Amino acid sequence: MKILVINCGSSSLKYQLIDMENEHVIAKGLCERIGIAGGHIEGKTFDGRQFSEEIDLPDHTVAFGRVKDALLEGECKVIDSLDEIAAIGHRVVQGGAVFDHSVVVTPEVIREIDNLSALAPLHNPAHIQGINACTEVFGEEKPQVVVFDNAFHSTMPKYAYSFAIPQDLAEKHQIRKYGAHGTSHKYLVERYAEIKGIPLEGTKIITCHLGNGSSVSAVKDGKCIDTSMGLTPLDGLVMGTRSGSIDASAVTFLQEREGWTPKETSEFLNKKCGLLGVSGSSSDMRDNMTAREEGDKNAELATDMLFYQIRKYIGSYVAAMNGVDAILFSGGIGENSVHTRDAVVRELGWLNIRLDEEANDVRGKEIRISTDDSAVEVWVIPTNEELAIARDTKRLVEEQ
Ligand code: ADP
Repeated sequence: MKILVINCGSSSLKYQLIDMENEHVIAKGLCERIGIAGGHIEGKTFDGRQFSEEIDLPDHTVAFGRVKDALLEGECKVIDSLDEIAAIGHRVVQGGAVFDHSVVVTPEVIREIDNLSALAPLHNPAHIQGINACTEVFGEEKPQVVVFDNAFHSTMPKYAYSFAIPQDLAEKHQIRKYGAHGTSHKYLVERYAEIKGIPLEGTKIITCHLGNGSSVSAVKDGKCIDTSMGLTPLDGLVMGTRSGSIDASAVTFLQEREGWTPKETSEFLNKKCGLLGVSGSSSDMRDNMTAREEGDKNAELATDMLFYQIRKYIGSYVAAMNGVDAILFSGGIGENSVHTRDAVVRELGWLNIRLDEEANDVRGKEIRISTDDSAVEVWVIPTNEELAIARDTKRLVEEQ
């Protein structure tokens, strides 16, 4: 069975075609600048064939048409007919409190995703465009599944996901912590249990997904009980360009002093803060680490803030779960930054965690980086959100 996994942004579309017999990627690629002048599509196949094309992509339907052609024809052809694709799985950012698991797409599901657009104005409308474009290009008969980014966090207790504001207002506007990166956090704990050959029941795991966007989750018995992102992916850790947690008074103060509209404030907090804002030079962790090594004090502050905040979240989640068995690192920074893992774990000696420095000198590889006598296991596990989406899609289609 082959599953096409789709991740649609407002102006982008990423795809992966996965063979579910062996869970290998057959082809993958992305379309950029959809609806903007200067469109671009590129892709590659499992056996190293590649293509790249500058082509105007006025909307998602045109982009999907081009993806379909790339899979079916030309130098990068990997299938003979669309019938070989059993189903399409879409990543959806915001399922609100409505969707606590993946579902097969129906007109009702599309309406619900649309209703949740206020909570994810940049993402949910794009996902609907993607679903509709898929229907146009692949036909109504092709099953489509939506996998929600925050579904894994739906098990958080109310006292963990509530903000201390009047509850009637919270309910009226659906204001609460929803979290994000759920597909990744879920993949990580399940992969850990698989590696260890243990059930998730009885485990206490802290997952650190650290990339351009970063979040940490506390997962007890395989269920998320808390996560660092909030109503939106702005909350929690300092990120590439997002501020992370900030005293709301600092926001209203800035808004007043600078004369910003809510939209401008949101733009500021999402796009101009984080590592970029503090370092004044780059949102990229690699750039910041290089600058730090060259003596740049601003980059040092930005990265020290990140290390400290990750450590603080881990400490608080140890308290929230009354213990921890394993800490898992993933995402571009978590998988590749030896220094970040070292800086975070080194200061957790009070938990009797011992880092194996040799094992930690690793990039992008699944490996335990704690010593045999460490009281808590620490692992690097490269995440695979596309595979998690494909697995859910396959399961739901087979259950139909
Ligand atoms: P996204 O959240 O957009 O999916 P990624 O998970 O790919 O992003 O993470 C991107 C981040 O990972 C960037 O800040 C990048 O600098 C960082 N990163 C990648 N490799 C390294 C490395 N070797 N050392 C430090 N940071 C790295």
